[in-house]
Amino acid sequence: MIILKAENLKKYYDKDVNIVKALDGVDVEIKKGEFVSIVGTSGSGKSTLLHMLGGLDRATDGKVYVDDKDIFSMTDDQLTVFRRRNIGFVFQNYNLVPILNVYENIVLPIELDGNKIDKNHVDNIIKTLGLTEKINNLPNNLSGGQQQRVAIARSLATKPAIILADEPTGNLDSKTSQEVLGLLKITSEKFNQTIVMITHNEEIAQLADRTIRIEDGQIVRGDR
Ligand code: ADP
Ligand code: ADP
Repeated sequence: MIILKAENLKKYYDKDVNIVKALDGVDVEIKKGEFVSIVGTSGSGKSTLLHMLGGLDRATDGKVYVDDKDIFSMTDDQLTVFRRRNIGFVFQNYNLVPILNVYENIVLPIELDGNKIDKNHVDNIIKTLGLTEKINNLPNNLSGGQQQRVAIARSLATKPAIILADEPTGNLDSKTSQEVLGLLKITSEKFNQTIVMITHNEEIAQLADRTIRIEDGQIVRGDR
């Protein structure tokens, strides 16, 4: 089953008198439960593609379907709600709230949505990511790898079908990167979640089921 699909996706930016074709006709199909990495040099269009796939920004042309829903046909408000319910984001700079402890950070999106915390599910995630001993700590007292595991736990807590990760290991050393990614993979498999991850790191990209390579806004390799 295809959970995420882009059709002839284009994103052009106006830059002074020029037009930057950040995405220039991209087709992607991602199956439910798949773990896909997106690789390419800086400026090739990776972040733009991830933003389009997650509905963080609108395309110039083309379509994105999440679970067969044409997300750009939604209003901004509809899209915001849809995104919150279906998509989890993980960024390079963890974005944890410094005055909240690990547990509070993890359940924050659930509470902001006004939903009831599924304690079993949250405990399961915390355990799988090896954070049980750390739940009362503040983010500042954690290593980079631990902070990213908290950010991953937070993105998984709302049970999104899709996780979109932009250079999630960009600030971590090689050993920690492998470890954190391994845990992300195990956890998402356990809950049958789909991951799309941007990375510069070829070793990290290898951990995915499949790699999509992008150059100058176009896909150059990978079987879509
Ligand atoms: P990557 O993530 O692969 O580094 P990006 O998707 O961030 O690439 O950028 C692709 C191209 O689009 C680059 O030339 C970049 O400078 C340009 N770009 C990205 N975002 C914007 C923006 N908001 N306004 C103008 N140009 C942008
Ligand atoms: P990354 O590729 O590490 O994810 P960004 O997405 O922040 O980094 O930016 C990628 C490229 O897009 C950079 O070259 C940046 O200068 C350009 N860019 C991002 N946002 C804008 C913007 N609002 N206006 C112009 N260029 C932008």
